[in-house]
Amino acid sequence: MAVVNKIIPFSCVDGPGNRMVIFFQGCNFSCTYCHNPETINKCNNCGECVKGCPSGALKMASGKVSYDKEECIDCDRCIKVCKNLSSPKTKDYSVIELLEEIKKCRPFINGITVSGGECTLNKEFLVELFKKVKDLGLTLFVDTNGNIDLEKNKDLVDITDKFMLDIKSIDEEENITLTGASNKLPIKNLKYLLDLNKIFEVRTVVCNNLDSFKTIDETSKIIKDRCRYKIIKYREFGVREEGIKLHGEESPSLEFMEKLKDKAISNGCLDTIIT
Ligand code: SF4
Ligand code: SF4
Repeated sequence: MAVVNKIIPFSCVDGPGNRMVIFFQGCNFSCTYCHNPETINKCNNCGECVKGCPSGALKMASGKVSYDKEECIDCDRCIKVCKNLSSPKTKDYSVIELLEEIKKCRPFINGITVSGGECTLNKEFLVELFKKVKDLGLTLFVDTNGNIDLEKNKDLVDITDKFMLDIKSIDEEENITLTGASNKLPIKNLKYLLDLNKIFEVRTVVCNNLDSFKTIDETSKIIKDRCRYKIIKYREFGVREEGIKLHGEESPSLEFMEKLKDKAISNGCLDTIIT
């Protein structure tokens, strides 16, 4: 079984073509600028969110929170009240149950993208699911923070068509401040997957109060022309309080973003885009 935060049946921004995106619950990073911090931890059933639910969609039963999608009015009060960076609106899926959801969309999609949270924390589940989804003729993409050793998880790498990988910061200390964890594995995975031609795109979020120039400069030198580099402007919308304290409310200027793009291109990373 795996805990799923949500499923988007159709997306055209999570890999090539039209894709179903499955967001798994739980992450081994805790990024200050995360736009969906309610995916970081699994619910501990503390019950705090239940009393504030205006529609009766949440109930406590046998020490566990139960969620009724039909009753939910999507006000997100439960997510705002949760101090555990979690959500009561998750659902446990078996591989077969998730496969059934994918089959419903099969005629309209080119593939699936698994995301999160950090989807690779469910690696055995993913390998089992991917084997079955491959038989449907769909492509398999993994959106990851790179914080597991993929070289030691060859079965997942072999079956995945392409990865989308985040490089948060090339500087170890800065990465720890930003995510709570080291950047050693993401950088190791970047080199490993590039050598295998398994990366669709690498992404870096550019924030104020970070040495983004150094990260873009050094990351683009590693990538060269081997995949797309997407440089993403920080936006404060949805970011939790400590993130706004650290990065402010202002996004980096377009002029600075263009300067970063020019730097990456001058390092040979020709397919660089800013968003
Ligand atoms: S979602 Fe958060 S507040 Fe609600 S029960 Fe789970 S941990 Fe507690
Ligand atoms: S979003 Fe959460 S608090 Fe709002 S109705 Fe749905 S379950 Fe209840």
